[in-house]
Amino acid sequence: MTEGLHESCGVFGIFGDEHAAEKTYLGLYALQHRGQESAGISVSDGHVLSIHKGMGLVRTVFNSHEILRSLKGFAAIGHNRYSTEGESKTINAQPLLIQFRGGQIAGVHNGNLVNALELRKRMENTGSIFQTTSDSEIVLHLIARSEEQEIVEMIYDALKRLDGAFSFLFLTPERLIAARDPYGFRPLCLGRSGDAVVVASETCAFDIIGAQYTRSIEPGEIVVVSSSGIESRMLPTRGKNAMCIFEYIYFSRPDSIIFNDKVDKIRRRLGKTLAREAPVEADIVIAIPDSANTAALGYAQASNLRFEIGLIRNHYVGRTFIDPEQGMRDIDVKVKFNPVTGVLNNKRVVVVDDSIVRGTTLRQLVKIIRGAGAKEVHVRISSPPVISPCYYGIDISRSGELIASSKSVDEICNFIGADSLAYLSVEGMLGTVSESNSFCTACFTGRYPTPVPQNYDKMQLGMNKINRCV
Ligand code: SF4
Repeated sequence: MTEGLHESCGVFGIFGDEHAAEKTYLGLYALQHRGQESAGISVSDGHVLSIHKGMGLVRTVFNSHEILRSLKGFAAIGHNRYSTEGESKTINAQPLLIQFRGGQIAGVHNGNLVNALELRKRMENTGSIFQTTSDSEIVLHLIARSEEQEIVEMIYDALKRLDGAFSFLFLTPERLIAARDPYGFRPLCLGRSGDAVVVASETCAFDIIGAQYTRSIEPGEIVVVSSSGIESRMLPTRGKNAMCIFEYIYFSRPDSIIFNDKVDKIRRRLGKTLAREAPVEADIVIAIPDSANTAALGYAQASNLRFEIGLIRNHYVGRTFIDPEQGMRDIDVKVKFNPVTGVLNNKRVVVVDDSIVRGTTLRQLVKIIRGAGAKEVHVRISSPPVISPCYYGIDISRSGELIASSKSVDEICNFIGADSLAYLSVEGMLGTVSESNSFCTACFTGRYPTPVPQNYDKMQLGMNKINRCV
């Protein structure tokens, strides 16, 4: 992925560890790829919740020992956030922490609620005042307004009113509560670190603290962790599961387990299937680094071609979407990628990428690869064409931004200047996962698992803008 799609947020939680803040900080480090706009941690000492959050990367927000030392407690939740354009404000950074009749509660959210505007309007009409433009705040309001008396019942009552994608972590002085929406759009993993219970978007956050993966939290499951142990209950079902297949294609790290399967394994299969569906006479296979590396390895293995490092990515500039301001999006691709001329010169090159959004960056890269002497450039994409917006937590907001929504594969091939272009088929993609009918494929097929808002444009919601935690 060279452009356009923005990650989901990353969440991490731990209960029962005297170094809860430090472990959460490390977990957030491992989840940095899921959000770079802001970071935050809330900690419980058993009586009171404390919090620290701010704009920027984890290392920027937690830039001294004193900050972590001040977050004393045995339980914590943390969040890395990616925000939509124009709404990168500290007030929207998470965790969100409120005080209400039930005491203190902090929450972090990965996903996007499709009925957020409707819920917010209804609450505003009856007197609610919102401080943020985050849809996550709506849930805290629903919890506070619940007629139930006990906190877990209040959370259950609030969550069953939501539609869309959510992987939530809540922290109260005595409990850590993790919840995944009934479709299971976003991943949420459960593990153990000694006697402590840990929860994270991806298991790479467990590895960094030496925690062991136990299982995926089920779609619709609410897991309550307290000094009495772990309890689980289910939200009402909403039809079949709809786990985000894009997590396997691009968003999650290849060293993670999500949805109970290894990302590396599925991503390699995507490349292998692509090689079988779209073979080409060539000398070498290269990846658009880093996200397409694993799929390119799979392509090379299945086609008996040599995998080479043909492009070097400059990691010190970050990803183009590190800053959603328009100016940063247009940053010259040459700042990020440099060709290895000795590898590419006089070769017929297969270039594997995981997806195409606008195609503008890929067009520049094809030019750079040709400029390094490649005789032929054949582009292979390890997912089907992205034709529709995502309403579930990934920032694909307008069909007009998606080149495949208006152009044929041949037209896209012409636009990027490749000798040939082929995408993985929807069937091929679904053949790489177990329980293929449990996945959302809406951005590739236009078939949405939930009703979606009409005339939705999250960039133009004005005063009613809801800032998705995407
Ligand atoms: Fe994932 Fe695409 Fe579905 Fe969004 S629409 S949840 S990106 S598969």
